[in-house]
Amino acid sequence: MERLVRSCYKQGGYVFAKKAEEIGREYGVARIARLASNENPDPPSALAVTAAKKALLASNRYPDERGDVLTQALRTCYGNYSFVIGAGMDGIIETLIRTLVEPGEAVAIATPTFSFYGLAAMAQAAHVTTVPRHVKDFSIDTKRLIHAGKTAKITVLCSPNNPTGNATPADDVGEVLEGIEGVLFLDNAYVEFSDYDYLPLMKTYDNLVIGRTFSKVHSLAGLRIGYAFAPAWLVPYYERARTPFAVNSVSAAAAAAALLDPDHPERYIAQVKRWGKRFADEVKYPILPSDANFVMVDVSPHTGDQMVEHLARRGVIVRSCRSFGGLPDHYIRVSIGEDWENELFVQAINSI
Ligand code: PMP
Repeated sequence: MERLVRSCYKQGGYVFAKKAEEIGREYGVARIARLASNENPDPPSALAVTAAKKALLASNRYPDERGDVLTQALRTCYGNYSFVIGAGMDGIIETLIRTLVEPGEAVAIATPTFSFYGLAAMAQAAHVTTVPRHVKDFSIDTKRLIHAGKTAKITVLCSPNNPTGNATPADDVGEVLEGIEGVLFLDNAYVEFSDYDYLPLMKTYDNLVIGRTFSKVHSLAGLRIGYAFAPAWLVPYYERARTPFAVNSVSAAAAAAALLDPDHPERYIAQVKRWGKRFADEVKYPILPSDANFVMVDVSPHTGDQMVEHLARRGVIVRSCRSFGGLPDHYIRVSIGEDWENELFVQAINSI
């Protein structure tokens, strides 16, 4: 019966980090440092947990279909923008592509980067155009991205970029917005860890969508909730394209409450700044400069896959960058976790 499956799903798919429990069993390690998925190691804010519990008690009802409470909380926090929400930023990426892209139309992606843009575009039978970043520092090739964006419905730029960690200056993003014909999806999953601010661009350009997530600074990865700053013209069409009730009421309530607790993200942001410096100083392999809560490490002469294996034996899970198309095979990506996890990573990698 497999012949019935669409050809695009016969191989490939999203690459997940190995489970901590599996690694622990395989190598006989009791305590595993989980540094592969760029999560905030702190549990969610107490405000978010209380709101989630309350919403859970009323979960016999379908959620508010428009997510008004969360949208209002986002306006209170960020100002009078138009927002869309989704089941993780992944849900937003999927819905945005569904809203705008007819089968066969182009989606241009600055690579190497997060893989889900390409997978979601493929699911919509889009034509994916990849635009390689500069090899030297992974900055974007603005001219080529604009060229590709002239015929693409959506141009995708991740800043700070996963997995390379570098951010694109707002002026360069502005240049891309000026030059392309379609919408720019600017993925800001990690922007809170950087000093970059792209929101002023929302006032000037009506072809910009800025994606954000509650999975990182807000510690809500397990609840699958994201949002995007979107131009007002797009919102009603996005609403029509989205899966009904995709954002559940518990997640929406937790996210709205998380916005009321700015101290929560601040603790982890400070941890990221502190450990970003320590990794650069203490790890014997070259660390690439990062504006995110992870770093990319050049582990030559090992391959990324070999280093992942070496570190797993020592109780540390990191991500090999092999599956990010367009990168040489000697990089790993390491999230900044709790002190003991980061310390274990430094000690483990320096012993290899
Ligand atoms: N964009 C980037 C760059 C990411 O790294 C991730 C998750 N790792 C996502 C989007 C998806 O975020 P979410 O958990 O909100 O779906």
